Amino acid sequence: MTERSGLSRRGLLGAVAGVTAATALPAVPAWAADDQRPGAANHPNLDRYDRQIVSSLSSENALRHLQVLSEHIGPRIGGTQSEKRAADYIAGQLDKYGYNTKLEPFPVADKFTAQIDDVRDILPNDLCWQAGAAPGGKLDVTVEGPVRDVGPATAPVWPADVAGSIVIADDTAAARPALVAEAAARGAVGVILLPADLVFPRRASAFSPAGLTDAPIPVIGVAQVQKRLIREALAVVNSLPLRISTKAHRGLISNNVIGERRGKGGADSPIVVVCGHYDSVIGAPGANDDGSGTVLTMELARVFSRIPTNATLRFALWGSEEQGLIGSRYHVAQLAQDQRDRHAAVFQNDMVATSWDPAITYWLLSFTGLANTATDAVRAAGVRLGYDPQMVGPVQRGASDHQSFQEVGIASANFSWRGEISPAFLEPPYHSPEDTIAKNVSLERLQVSMELIGTAAYAVARS
Ligand SMILES: [Zn+2]
Repeated sequence: MTERSGLSRRGLLGAVAGVTAATALPAVPAWAADDQRPGAANHPNLDRYDRQIVSSLSSENALRHLQVLSEHIGPRIGGTQSEKRAADYIAGQLDKYGYNTKLEPFPVADKFTAQIDDVRDILPNDLCWQAGAAPGGKLDVTVEGPVRDVGPATAPVWPADVAGSIVIADDTAAARPALVAEAAARGAVGVILLPADLVFPRRASAFSPAGLTDAPIPVIGVAQVQKRLIREALAVVNSLPLRISTKAHRGLISNNVIGERRGKGGADSPIVVVCGHYDSVIGAPGANDDGSGTVLTMELARVFSRIPTNATLRFALWGSEEQGLIGSRYHVAQLAQDQRDRHAAVFQNDMVATSWDPAITYWLLSFTGLANTATDAVRAAGVRLGYDPQMVGPVQRGASDHQSFQEVGIASANFSWRGEISPAFLEPPYHSPEDTIAKNVSLERLQVSMELIGTAAYAVARS
């Protein structure tokens, strides 16, 4: 197959329909407004405003957006064409719902990606085969050859037939330059560097290997799951020919996508923001991180498009979060003080739908560690929905776009399903090729997340 990447050549609707038929999809939730939610400790006690929100929400709508983002577009690397395609899709939807929609552009650093194609169709094709390319290796080239495993880069064992092959080696940063030079001298056409396994539940991500200068062949860094699958295939076939292509993306512009509707309170209405980030890391389709928060935001935008509010509503999807909160920090820097003062609450949603069994806790994550209007509203929504006992927080944690707002004193928090022992206890597919709808998304958890944030945001926005 040639369509291993998210960069499918099929038409948008065709791709979505094809994916729907081919992929095992999570169960669509179907509980009535006053039914007890899955995993909830208590029966809900909703007010009429809550009912307005929960009766309008559709996790099927959200799923359709998620298929476009994580399956048709795939990895959405900040500033590259893939991220821009996602921005255009999201903006088109917000526009359709009647919001005043704009892209907010800002410059970001160069990126270096790679694509692995399996010439004989031996590797599993339900996985993303994007990897990172070394900026100091050969870029914008395609090479092909059988895989030769030389073991650890610190002490490689070279087979006789390296010429014309793609060398794989267990990566160590310090050993990279010598390993790559030796592989090239022996006639290898490319090098795939394999990361060390991380401690459970983490799995190593794909990476762009640093520390090389003008290597004469392409050098790429794969994810832990890709390493395992390549070695498993090598153990059972006598030849595993791969094709690897590298690409440099330079002079990049990333975008925030923001849809706004003026509140009934007029030009100085309070502002309520519901948001997530729509970019992902190299090699990760980003279904849960943060396709889930993106589609929560989009579906709430649809629901609120029919519900007037006193507050001005902003539905925002931040670009380049994964490179260090770049998009949200840029946005906050552009806000004049009177605009900042009008922000009543910013609800960030980063990883709100994992299907990982241990992620039974809904975390209220505050960069200051303190409660604010956003955490108070979600806690109160959790009481009404019957989720109060499963919620923990506010606890101190940054590392998502709420931090950018809290750094300048705006009430914000990040909301996320994670393991109960710690908000750092993330699912194994995190930042990996396995962050897919089939492997890492629960529509039930997504629905509950949408209900919590929708009812909380409405409580703040209507008052
Ligand atoms: Zn994220």
